[in-house]
Amino acid sequence: MLATQNPGKVVEIADLLADADVEVSPRPDGLGETVEDAGTLEGNARKKAIEVVAATGEAALADDTGLFVDALDGEPGVLTARYGGWERLLAELEDHQTRSARFRTVLIVVFPDGRPDLVVEGVAEGQIARSAQGDGGFGYDPIFIPDDGDGRAFAQMTRKEKNLISHRGRALRALVQALAP
Ligand code: IMP
Repeated sequence: MLATQNPGKVVEIADLLADADVEVSPRPDGLGETVEDAGTLEGNARKKAIEVVAATGEAALADDTGLFVDALDGEPGVLTARYGGWERLLAELEDHQTRSARFRTVLIVVFPDGRPDLVVEGVAEGQIARSAQGDGGFGYDPIFIPDDGDGRAFAQMTRKEKNLISHRGRALRALVQALAP
């Protein structure tokens, strides 16, 4: 069971996990919102997964992502979802020459039978642009220029191009490897 109902994430995860012979279902309706107050990506992901395991009795996969900006001592980090978006981030960084940042995604599978949790991580290193570029993707994609790309922002890439070098793509491929028999 996935801890998310986000249709984009469900499709992406189902696609990749088909390679590992794992069948996925979206988060069931009727579960409350998890309070994401654990202080770490892994802690928040674990909270989301545990709630789904408790409600369904099935193994649950949850993810949590943050954008960690060096010039802001790692903010917004674990609070990225509640930050003011890329407009605020550009304003905060206006006077900063240091633009380095990284997206981190933690994925966790919590099992109902007491098996240890499976935890993997994916990281995308990059630079925060001086202005927004492109109209693809979502969230902070218009201002994030990955170091492993060709100078374009995530929002200027196709979904496939982004998946190859993104934090979430990398975490999902690590999970497929970890789940392989
Ligand atoms: P979540 O844990 O996937 O909900 O991500 C937390 C926040 O990080 C989201 O609200 C987005 O603003 C941002 N975010 C996560 N993944 C990406 C991405 O791939 N591109 C841009 N922003 C992202």
